[in-house]
Amino acid sequence: MGVAEVVLSGLGKVYVDGTRAVADLDLEIRDGEFLVLVGPSGCGKTTALRMIAGLESVSEGSIRIGELVVNEVPSRDRDVAMVFQSYALYPHLNVYDNIAFGLTLRKLPKKEIDRRVREVAEVLELHEHLQRKPRNLSGGQRQRVAMGRAIVRAPQAFLMDEPLSNLDAKLRVQMRAQIARIQRDLGVTTVYVTHDQTEAMTLGDRVAVMKRGVLQQVGPPQELYDRPVNLFVAGFIGSPGMNLVTARLDRDDDGHHWVTVGSDALLLPESVLRARPALEGYAGRDVVLGIRPEDMEDAALADAQEGSILHSVADLVEAMGSDVLVHFPVDAEPVVTDDTRALAEDDGTADLPRGSGVVLVGRFSPRTHIYE
Ligand code: ATP
Repeated sequence: MGVAEVVLSGLGKVYVDGTRAVADLDLEIRDGEFLVLVGPSGCGKTTALRMIAGLESVSEGSIRIGELVVNEVPSRDRDVAMVFQSYALYPHLNVYDNIAFGLTLRKLPKKEIDRRVREVAEVLELHEHLQRKPRNLSGGQRQRVAMGRAIVRAPQAFLMDEPLSNLDAKLRVQMRAQIARIQRDLGVTTVYVTHDQTEAMTLGDRVAVMKRGVLQQVGPPQELYDRPVNLFVAGFIGSPGMNLVTARLDRDDDGHHWVTVGSDALLLPESVLRARPALEGYAGRDVVLGIRPEDMEDAALADAQEGSILHSVADLVEAMGSDVLVHFPVDAEPVVTDDTRALAEDDGTADLPRGSGVVLVGRFSPRTHIYE
């Protein structure tokens, strides 16, 4: 199976009605890489994918697949296979013929087609259903047929547009693992579009976050999680999301920097300032303080010092089986932690924290962020 890099350079799309869907997109998807394009509805991810597939014309910039700039190459000659959210199966054809369709079109020898279809059906565990029509298949099976049709063509790249969105939650998790496994085994360059950040984080070798047609950040999932470059990525990646509270950054006469949230003042450690000198420029300004839920602890239990404490009283406990989240307002904004050590011991998770309900802002870990 061929693999190829896919390189987008200054890629842009303006629809005929003047809508700008994608702007100046530079993205290099490496040989065999699984890249996920993620962002909220309308951010232009589908448009970008459709341009790579050749289903949408390119307004600006270029697309290269392998050695070839494909801007003017018709979709069928691009050697990419697309898997849609709707599966787009032929209802009148059985599973075998649906999978074989692309090969039949290309007039491959019958024997070769048969070998390849059966091989793929085996991998996808569809071999017992080859004679069935799509209407007699479950959602998950239909999804696998759609995958089979893409795989059997042995393309240079897979392009997938929300392929799991029609499945129920449990099946989605199963199919997600299966897609990851198949992609890894085949090593085919893959561009995968989703609005679901969990899907993006679990599937992608790298994740590209888009907002209103513009790429915000691209990197391995952990990098996006630990070092989101802006407020949008900080809020979008992670579930439960990063706590974002309005604050103010000030510098005192001794040169110390303080972050004020409501009536609490937090001392900004020198180490943080050294790591991010740009923060000095925020002094005297309103900022947004971002802290992941797992970086907040109960202050009493963590033996916190003044200058690192946000005072609040928990107002809600959310128990979801293995995860328990404690909600508390900070300066009237909702904040979440997964530190449940302070929960009342007698009746477990259902109660609010005992004691003062004081909650610590971690120790400005590398994952604590301050945005303008
Ligand atoms: P979703 O997840 O909802 O599919 P998306 O991130 O994939 O969203 P696109 O479908 O690429 O976003 O759409 C990007 C923008 O382009 C949107 O504002 C959309 O309304 C607009 N758009 C999409 N198709 C067309 C079209 N044919 N003509 C005009 N505008 C369009």
